[in-house]
Amino acid sequence: MSQKEGGWGFSTRAVHVGQGPDPATGAVVQPIHLATTFAQEAVGKHHGFEYSRSGNPTRQALEECLAALEEARHCLAFASGLGAESTLMLLLKPNDHVVYMEDVYGGTFRLFDKVMKRFGITFTAVDAADLDAVENAITPATRLVWLESPTNPLMRVVDIDAVSEVAHSHGARVCVDNTFATPYLQQPLHLGADVVVHSATKYIGGHSDVVGGAIMTSDDELEKQLRFHQNAVGAVPSPFDCWLLLRGIKTLALRVERQSENAMTVARALEANKAVSRVHYPGLESHANRSVAQRQMRMFGGMMSFEVKDEPAAFRVLERLTIFALAESLGAVESLAEHPARMTHASVPAAERKRVGVGDGLIRLSIGVEDAADLVADLEQALASSHA
Ligand SMILES: *Cc1c(COP(=O)(O)O)cnc(C)c1O
Repeated sequence: MSQKEGGWGFSTRAVHVGQGPDPATGAVVQPIHLATTFAQEAVGKHHGFEYSRSGNPTRQALEECLAALEEARHCLAFASGLGAESTLMLLLKPNDHVVYMEDVYGGTFRLFDKVMKRFGITFTAVDAADLDAVENAITPATRLVWLESPTNPLMRVVDIDAVSEVAHSHGARVCVDNTFATPYLQQPLHLGADVVVHSATKYIGGHSDVVGGAIMTSDDELEKQLRFHQNAVGAVPSPFDCWLLLRGIKTLALRVERQSENAMTVARALEANKAVSRVHYPGLESHANRSVAQRQMRMFGGMMSFEVKDEPAAFRVLERLTIFALAESLGAVESLAEHPARMTHASVPAAERKRVGVGDGLIRLSIGVEDAADLVADLEQALASSHA
């Protein structure tokens, strides 16, 4: 990044980094470079691109922009969040050990439990809010501590700074899945983490129309290994997907601000509703880790969950909602609602779900950019019917 780019605010970086007018035509929007191969003037003499899996100009523009948003030295883009995660995990070797927080994203748990374990990597789940538990889980073989904050779907907040200090004192690296917070609300690399992963499918894309992922780091050695594996494993995004992500990113700050404001209004309304027994939102005074969230996040984000009395009540609410679509995924302009136990977290064994507190009456909301009053009214009419 140039000196000038380094001094730019988040929104200016989102609109401009990696995306200057096209030198050939003056077009103010990045072209979609579909070419799979690039002509060389002489053997090895080229413009920095040879074959599109190894490097592509549209992907490079996306990677530069995303690196600037996390204030990282490097970014690598992938075809999905799990494509990014699995490529990162392939840096580990048999007998390496990973400590991860117990309520990670269901797909991350499945990748660890059903795929990476087969390659001899070992895993220990901990309550990352408990620093002693993290420290006790670390062994001489621990290479990585894997965090998510806020967590899915219970919106637990982890003190990234404190966990990083513990991990580093034992020589382990820290990876934070920053999908829920976005780089606008939280920058884990500034809180001590070594590497950040994103499902760009969610807030970064922001319009429910592209699947993508990214890894950011400021560690040059790690970047070198990741760059090798990005090409060697090949889970790269298409140029069109990169372009869609760049288009979404331009409004990331606007969207997330509106979503955070809407979420605060909705969370307060739900907390006041007698059909709701509990609301999980880091912006509420009732949230156990509100002070940590306040310290490490700019705002509290657009995700929350709440509890009604049982599964039939939750199903009735979900069926009665009219603005909120009943759907998995999150982070886009439209509001979504879902039932974690039967949908996003169905791959987590029932006993494990129960232990971490994902109950049958739990509903998760992804708050969009609609009018807050309409979202509150929709939830209130749906909840009014939930006793029936
Ligand atoms: C969706 C999601 C992922 C996986 O990303 P994909 O783009 O679906 O592969 C990882 N972590 C979190 C927190 C997610 O929400």
